[in-house]
Amino acid sequence: MDFKLPDETIAIRDLVSEFSKKKIEPIASKIDKEDRFPMEIFREMGKLGLLGLTIPEEYGGAGLDFLTDGVALEEISYFSGSLGLSYGDHNNLVLDNLNRNGNKEQKEKYLPSLVAGQKIGSLCLTEPGAGSDALGGMKTTYERKGESYEINGTKTFITNAPNADVFLVYARNGKSYSQFILEREDGVETPKKIKKLGMRGSPTGEVVLRNITVGKERLVRAEGQGKSIILNGLNAERAVLAFGPIGIARRALDEAINYSNQREQFGKKIGEFELIQEKLAYMFTRLEAAKLLAYKAATMLSENVSDPSYAAASIMFASETATQITRDAIQIFGGYGYTEDYPLERYLRDAILYEIGAGTTEIRKIVIAKALLKK
Ligand SMILES: Cc1cc2nc3c(=O)[nH]c(=O)nc-3n(C[C@H](O)[C@H](O)[C@H](O)COP(=O)(O)OP(=O)(O)OC[C@H]3O[C@@H](n4cnc5c(N)ncnc54)[C@H](O)[C@@H]3O)c2cc1C
Repeated sequence: MDFKLPDETIAIRDLVSEFSKKKIEPIASKIDKEDRFPMEIFREMGKLGLLGLTIPEEYGGAGLDFLTDGVALEEISYFSGSLGLSYGDHNNLVLDNLNRNGNKEQKEKYLPSLVAGQKIGSLCLTEPGAGSDALGGMKTTYERKGESYEINGTKTFITNAPNADVFLVYARNGKSYSQFILEREDGVETPKKIKKLGMRGSPTGEVVLRNITVGKERLVRAEGQGKSIILNGLNAERAVLAFGPIGIARRALDEAINYSNQREQFGKKIGEFELIQEKLAYMFTRLEAAKLLAYKAATMLSENVSDPSYAAASIMFASETATQITRDAIQIFGGYGYTEDYPLERYLRDAILYEIGAGTTEIRKIVIAKALLKK
């Protein structure tokens, strides 16, 4: 068992960290306050080869593993949780999904421009009446019409949708679920950008599909394969996105340590008080435990080991840990932690999302328990 990250993962981590410190850190607070997606940074990431880390080189990617993909997401999230979310969504939910499920023509057509950051992708599963019960509650339909498919429905809470060019859409025909690749030019409408508690700057929107007609070359795999694509996709999404809350939590801990070494009360640094020390000790321990679980789940994903309990446990623990650590960091900052003059409140607002997106904490518990009971 090797607890050291592979050299190539360390090299990507350092590259992403340097880029994020230079380009994202100066505008992280502005991204949140103005709820603005920094398109220019996203495009630069594409030019630098940071998008599509797991995509094979023949499609412009770096051909790396999921651990490296996760570590890159952790570094971006350390500086901006919301850019991390949009990055993780584009990279994993869309690019990786297409790479695993698309045919050669689909990959050749869509992957290079998505990897280069010239186009943005979004994955459309959730609907107004279908969240946790994404399959059973799905109302978006597809219908075969000769050589074409017609798709109708409304998706909601879709990350990147307001800016997206490519939409991976799930639809059903009775009990048959299928995935389609849609383009904005097909007539996809994104009428509403949703205002949120946190993750501001990562645009979340509604996607309206009215009589969208596409050829059968847009169907992914085959009719009826949507359910298996969704379930495998959720597993990959959970294993990789777990690194988002880890990045946010690591930043909150670093800030809390610095502040504890500077702030004085009763003639002492607050870090000298044992009640503050206890908080720091727990924050560190929980973060390290979350990291180890995330490393394991991401490595299992790269090695194609199919066990949904690890990915679900990884994101469940990482997200709960991040909520707790960012909350503790606010407490260590006292009144200043509660103000917008410091970024602590942003960290908490951003962290909470990871207990909801990619299946809620409650659903993750069910996934873990079901897998355990089956063993
Ligand atoms: C910022 C943001 C970005 C998102 N990005 C995307 C995206 O890119 N693509 C996409 O498709 N979706 C996305 N989502 C949607 C997200 O996956 C859903 O919000 C999530 O799955 C929960 O669905 P819901 O909001 O409808 O809650 P509901 O399913 O209505 O759940 C409400 C509450 O009931 C609980 N609950 C539900 N069922 C059970 C059960 N069986 N047992 C116990 N408790 C239960 C839930 O845990 C929750 O606490 C995003 C959401 C947000 C907020």
